[in-house]
Amino acid sequence: MSVLSKDHPAVVLSLDSQHLASIQAHANRTYPEECCGLLLGTSDPTGKTVMEVRATNNIWREEAQSDLTKKRRYLIPPEAMLVAMKYGRTLGLDIIGIYHSHPDCLAEPSEYDRAAAWQHYSYLIVSVPQGKAGDVRSWSLNDQQVFHEEDVLILQDSP
Ligand SMILES: [Zn+2]
Repeated sequence: MSVLSKDHPAVVLSLDSQHLASIQAHANRTYPEECCGLLLGTSDPTGKTVMEVRATNNIWREEAQSDLTKKRRYLIPPEAMLVAMKYGRTLGLDIIGIYHSHPDCLAEPSEYDRAAAWQHYSYLIVSVPQGKAGDVRSWSLNDQQVFHEEDVLILQDSP
């Protein structure tokens, strides 16, 4: 089964340029390891809007989980998910997605990313070639557990 699919109506994920900047800065800080974090916002059938970005630790434990390092894996602390869920509820926001970085790799999901992904979440991936965060793409699973790409809309700062 392929990880990627093109034949799906595109969902739009909107975030503003400050959210993007904070994700890219986080990715640069953790390079050459992967960073990860949560996207809080709202969603409806036509799209999702990021209202807040929350950086989390990457708790992938190299020695316990495999010979793969944090250069190639991320794991969000479960308690960070719970805290973000509760916090979001007070603001009327849901966790709508997860972001992580791909140091020296394309912003395309790996088979691991697919296997670990949850339905309905957007998976925003930022590519970090040579320590400088660049390309950002977003993905979500379809009914067949295949990733399809979402359109990412970067909104300029509102006054
Ligand atoms: Zn990944």
